[in-house]
Amino acid sequence: MHDEDHLWEVAEQHDHPLEAHAADRVESAIRSILESVGEDPERDGLKDTPARVARMYEELLQGYHTDPIALINGALFEVDYDEMVVVKDIEYYSLCEHHLLPFYGVAHVAYIPRGKVIGLSKLPRIVDMFARRLQVQERMTRQIADFINEALHPQGVAVVVEGAHLCSMMRGVKKANARMVTSAVLGRFKSDARTRSEFFEHIRKT
Ligand SMILES: [Zn+2]
Repeated sequence: MHDEDHLWEVAEQHDHPLEAHAADRVESAIRSILESVGEDPERDGLKDTPARVARMYEELLQGYHTDPIALINGALFEVDYDEMVVVKDIEYYSLCEHHLLPFYGVAHVAYIPRGKVIGLSKLPRIVDMFARRLQVQERMTRQIADFINEALHPQGVAVVVEGAHLCSMMRGVKKANARMVTSAVLGRFKSDARTRSEFFEHIRKT
């Protein structure tokens, strides 16, 4: 039980239901953005846009409402295996919290089990739980690592995230920083340089 409470905490998930009338409020906000840029929200092409955007945000931000316990439920298996598990190229799409524009790319996740592994299909869902929020890439990377660490108590966790940021690319500023690589390493990946370089060797072969 204590463990489960802790998982909610590292998921930074507070079990808050979707706010009442959230979609209505997004709709009216989008309508006022359209008006304030000089558009006519009633013209054909735009009249369904506020409702469409509201539905879209619900989908793109559903990570706020993922139950972390249900997510890993039934997917943890006891095994006698203590070699590195690496899952590469997990596609993700997120929204930068500074501009509400997408950043997207791939995440590479590795861990060294301590008697317990997680079903392969769950790692992309863990990535999604954190990607589908308003994010900064550095925090998302750290959250994925912390969550796997808490769920599995492995000997170590490593996460590398590559991201292309439309807020940089579209606005023509800081083009050199448009693609960003962030990493978080815990346990043996932090303490043991050979383990760490084995992981980086794996993901270099992408
Ligand atoms: Zn941004």
